[in-house]
Amino acid sequence: MKIDMKTLAQKYGTPLYIYDFDYIENRYTTLKEAFAGKKSLINYAVKANSNLSVIAHLAKLGAGADCVSIGEVRRALDAGVANYKIIFSGVGKRDDEIREALEKDILFLNLESEAEMKRVEMVAKELGEEARISVRVNPNIDPQTHPYISTGLHENKFGVEIDMAKRMYIYANRSEFLNPVGIHFHIGSQLTKLEPIKEACVIVSDLVRSLKAIKIDIKFFDVGGGIGVVYNDEVTISETDYAQAIFEATKGLDVTLMCEPGRYMVANAGAFFTRVLYEKNNDGKRFVIVDAAMNDLLRPSLYNAYHQIEAVTADANADKTDADVVGPVCESGDFLGKDVPLPPLQHNDLLVVQSTGAYGFTMASNYNTRGRSAEVALEAGVDRLIRRRETYEDQVRLELEYLKK
Ligand SMILES: *Cc1c(COP(=O)(O)O)cnc(C)c1O
Repeated sequence: MKIDMKTLAQKYGTPLYIYDFDYIENRYTTLKEAFAGKKSLINYAVKANSNLSVIAHLAKLGAGADCVSIGEVRRALDAGVANYKIIFSGVGKRDDEIREALEKDILFLNLESEAEMKRVEMVAKELGEEARISVRVNPNIDPQTHPYISTGLHENKFGVEIDMAKRMYIYANRSEFLNPVGIHFHIGSQLTKLEPIKEACVIVSDLVRSLKAIKIDIKFFDVGGGIGVVYNDEVTISETDYAQAIFEATKGLDVTLMCEPGRYMVANAGAFFTRVLYEKNNDGKRFVIVDAAMNDLLRPSLYNAYHQIEAVTADANADKTDADVVGPVCESGDFLGKDVPLPPLQHNDLLVVQSTGAYGFTMASNYNTRGRSAEVALEAGVDRLIRRRETYEDQVRLELEYLKK
């Protein structure tokens, strides 16, 4: 980002998330163009970054939304995503969530078990409606990513195996209250290899063909999300290769191709700014203590994820030594980076943590009664606040009235 970050950090305070909206637009159009010539729908995975302005920005470009709670469905609708472009996934949905999704007439509910299908059928029956559904198939493929973000093996909790999926389609097709319109899989996140996606596409498109043979017509072929991004030195999947692999596997099928990128769309649009409080040295080990912590950016603590960290304000020519960048939260796991080469730092020096647009703010919490960061959008060289910093009052609002004095 070319904007003067010092000025923005001054203006909005730290810790601070900044998102480059032009970058997001570029990502969306690049992926969309890779699908040119085919019917396609890109359903942004809202959980990656659910700020209303981020969703609205993508909605204006034509994106749909992939949601995993009714709260996310509401966000998508509030942000201007058309109801017929919203899908609702996730391993567990409450009856009230199912009901509301049906009432809002979204594109389809993505089912992850037979038991869930029966619940959806019952709720649809109560409403006297037919629920459009898809089944999440677990193709039992190793996505070759971090085990915490791998979802396409039978040992993971997600989806159903092929035979079960087929039985569910047959059941749904006979039911007065279910309409099977889609098929779906999502084998993991931060995928940098195309091969597992290709394999999954082949397995699942074979299922679509065998369903077609028994007159069950699947209209939406959803390959999930998971396209990997560059955090460090990864070589990841190209958009055209990705689309071509999907074209190849679905050859001859009359389907709308869908995908659900989250990280791909926003990770590298985001930068996270924090200020140095002070340095300390414990028996030769250098620590840089900053004003951001694991409650603001959980990925390093949760997945041992790498984010590049650089000093924005320090003397660029000074010698660098390795330091752990840690926050004030009372946990040893509270770090943003380990062994980060940094120049000597002063109180109030500014650091930037890169590639933090996805699963950054959305995983933030109020642990240690720390207010969540402000979020700022940058669009065509102009900055604007899209979420104000959380105050102490915001945090205690739901408790104060119950306080016995
Ligand atoms: C998390 C998730 C996504 C998005 O994953 P990314 O790796 O961020 O692209 C898409 N679909 C489903 C069902 C998910 O659970």
